[in-house]
Amino acid sequence: MRLILFGPPGAGKGTHARVLAETWQVPHWATGDILRRHIREGTELGKRAKAVLAKGELVSDALVNELMIDQMSEPDGKRGFILDGYPRTVGQADALENFLKRQNEKLDVALYFKTSVEVIVDRLSGRRSCPQCGANYHVRNIPPRVEGVCDRCQSKLVERADDRPETVRHRLEVYEKETSPLLDYYRRRGLLKEVPGDLDVAELQVKLRKILAGLAKQTTG
Ligand code: AMP
Repeated sequence: MRLILFGPPGAGKGTHARVLAETWQVPHWATGDILRRHIREGTELGKRAKAVLAKGELVSDALVNELMIDQMSEPDGKRGFILDGYPRTVGQADALENFLKRQNEKLDVALYFKTSVEVIVDRLSGRRSCPQCGANYHVRNIPPRVEGVCDRCQSKLVERADDRPETVRHRLEVYEKETSPLLDYYRRRGLLKEVPGDLDVAELQVKLRKILAGLAKQTTG
């Protein structure tokens, strides 16, 4: 199973990707999480990416492609994967397509999380994230068991700096300009599947599980 999840910030990609990856036992690679890990660990890449993330801009295609192609080339990528937040530009989508062609593989589906601006603003303003394991919560919709503490690794939850209203506005503009062309890109390839990102987590999970079960049936014939 090889799928990509894309949509505006706050669409719920990360939350759903984690659940699907556990169900299907495939790796979940979120470019944003990988970049934040590099920043936390102070690697060369992290130093280059830090200011870009803070401004809500996109890291260069060259850098992100190299990062993700290295990741997908790891042996556990053979079982399939869920890509969350990659590709985010047509240049990245081309790089992914070429990489998969070289491996004689292909994507099963590109899931587009169609989400309204009101829901995005509400989700991002209430989002709390775990800086350690990347888990996401929401103060009202998905609260952790203990306020301010990650259920998975007990780290202290934080508000992401790029979830501030002015940076969110810029991220949405960047999304419109750079990422929304992927809708046509994957529609033309017959891979696009639109899902309602406004639904709450449990409702959308039901839909996603159905889609994936259908795909699994097709692949196993
Ligand atoms: P996310 O966690 O998916 O919201 O990503 C956080 C930030 O990481 C984005 O605003 C970008 O600065 C950077 N980023 C994540 N994925 C990509 C990508 N595929 N291409 C370029 N920059 C990215």
